[in-house]
Amino acid sequence: MRVVIIGGSHAGIAAARHLKKVNPNVEVLMLERSNVLGYIGSSLNLYLEGTIADLDEAKTATVSQLMSENINVFIDTEAIDIDTEKKEVVALTKIEQEPTKDHFSYDYLILAMGSSQYQTGLSLQSDREITNYKTLEQAQQAIDTLNKVNKIAIIGAGLIGFELVESLTKLRKEIYLIDRMDNVLFRYFDEEITQKLLTKLPDNVHIILNSNVKEVQLDVNESVSGIILTNGQTLSCDAVVFAINPRPNV
Ligand SMILES: Cc1cc2nc3c(=O)[nH]c(=O)nc-3n(C[C@H](O)[C@H](O)[C@H](O)COP(=O)(O)OP(=O)(O)OC[C@H]3O[C@@H](n4cnc5c(N)ncnc54)[C@H](O)[C@@H]3O)c2cc1C
Repeated sequence: MRVVIIGGSHAGIAAARHLKKVNPNVEVLMLERSNVLGYIGSSLNLYLEGTIADLDEAKTATVSQLMSENINVFIDTEAIDIDTEKKEVVALTKIEQEPTKDHFSYDYLILAMGSSQYQTGLSLQSDREITNYKTLEQAQQAIDTLNKVNKIAIIGAGLIGFELVESLTKLRKEIYLIDRMDNVLFRYFDEEITQKLLTKLPDNVHIILNSNVKEVQLDVNESVSGIILTNGQTLSCDAVVFAINPRPNV
């Protein structure tokens, strides 16, 4: 029996290892479009706070580890189509300069394509406008950006946003933490608790509630120079970071 797993992050790796545990004879193929397996999304904070020296340490598995567990891993391989009648996944492999099209037949298919962060109602002109850090590549770019800038707008006052605030305040950055809800951490705490938390925030953290980012402004060098909020307010800042909930890629 052959199982193909699309996506080589936490869910895909857990599924592959579990399959091998319950039945070592199952043939498991894992297709991952990037060349990174199991990158831990919150590691940017560990790096900024000096807990780890290199983001490369923040991975839960390597290709050789999984191969040694008899899991066939195909990195740089993006599933682009599924033929459910033929039971076949069509994928583009980008190891060589020219991508090649490969077909992977399966008896069972697992979709573990995860999620990406995006915000509705915000039309972005280019990736330069928003700093994202879910993947290793994005986190590496985020470190370059965050090291260079001082005033940072963070979209999303949830767990991800607050964790980043903690790391960035230690670096004495000026932070605008923006949320469309009328309270911070609204999924987790009542106002009674969040009000106490807000009194403990350092002076360099400014909370903006009931509003969202409508537009990101760039200067002549294509660097972020400010944002326009849905409440009409304009703020000058040097970077805008997404700290919002990811939405499924399926
Ligand atoms: C900034 C941030 C901080 C976070 N911090 C925490 C935390 O502290 N604790 C916690 O528990 N969770 C945290 N999370 C959530 C956590 O990252 C996710 O729950 C987790 O990554 C989900 O794992 P997954 O395998 O389902 O999907 P993902 O990690 O999203 O992985 C999906 C994989 O599928 C691949 N893929 C997608 N489409 C294709 C395709 N067509 N072909 C081949 N491959 C494909 C992608 O490249 C990716 O590697 C955080 C998330 C973010 C964004």
